[in-house]
Amino acid sequence: MFDNLSYKLDRAFKTLKGTGKITEINVATTAKEIRRALIDADVNYKVAKDVTDKIKEEALGRDVLISVSPGQLLVKITQEELTKIMGGEKKDINIQGDPAVVLISGLQGSGKTTFSGKLATYLKKQGRQTLLIACDIYRPAAIEQLKTLGEQIGVEVYAEPENKNAVEIAQRGIEYAKRNGKKTVIVDTAGRLAVDEQMMKEISELKENLNPTETLFVVDSMTGQDAVNTAKTFDERLDFDGVVLTKLDGDTRGGAAISIRHVVNKPIKFISTGEKMENLDLFYPDRMAQRILG
Ligand code: GDP
Repeated sequence: MFDNLSYKLDRAFKTLKGTGKITEINVATTAKEIRRALIDADVNYKVAKDVTDKIKEEALGRDVLISVSPGQLLVKITQEELTKIMGGEKKDINIQGDPAVVLISGLQGSGKTTFSGKLATYLKKQGRQTLLIACDIYRPAAIEQLKTLGEQIGVEVYAEPENKNAVEIAQRGIEYAKRNGKKTVIVDTAGRLAVDEQMMKEISELKENLNPTETLFVVDSMTGQDAVNTAKTFDERLDFDGVVLTKLDGDTRGGAAISIRHVVNKPIKFISTGEKMENLDLFYPDRMAQRILG
């Protein structure tokens, strides 16, 4: 992933190769190239501009050490700025509570159900008893999908296929978890193909009534700028705690990872890099910046 962006950034830095020192002119030229590479990778224009303005400012303010070429210095500064813009520090999921309630939101197809299974697997490895609650009241196939996943990973699934009240199902699921010593519940919700009022109303009601410990927004990184817009709309209604970026194994241009944190100002907590249950990683901004720069 990010091959395209890495390649373009690499080319941008090459414009500095052979120049002995950092000057305003060569920094400006390279910064422009970096900005273009970021925009080509689907990074929001304003974010790309903010990053490159910062890079320019930093580069000109720093003394170039004899041992470091201007190109190397600019790579370092770019990495630092990308790390900062993606949140700086790793942010963990909050699972304090008995049980801790994790509400999963996002559009249909974004990878919510797959992520719910992955999170349950991740928590199981830490020895936490987890219950998955199937709250997609529109698609019986979604309930079946979660049940199959539950069987595969050895995590119990609570479902009421005949019930059309998501809040009621979740509340009863939480009661069930308490009675059965489960320390975390993961509430997998219904999504739609595009943002609509009914979905927003339903997920908002779930949030108000369940008072979750953690509300996560799952988004397909392949959707580029749309991912950022969808994140904004969900956050305005839900005020979620963190983002899960999925499908980072695909042919994504990676821009979403850089833009979302800056635009929505909520941390990315997990990245999903495949369909298998093990394909889940915590999000480390510095590692991601390194990966982007190749
Ligand atoms: P939901 O509708 O939001 O619950 O989405 P699903 O969990 O059903 O995922 C939709 C499709 O994307 C399924 O075919 C998943 O196998 C696939 N998927 C989910 N996460 C990833 C990922 O990180 N990488 C890839 N390549 N596919 C994924």
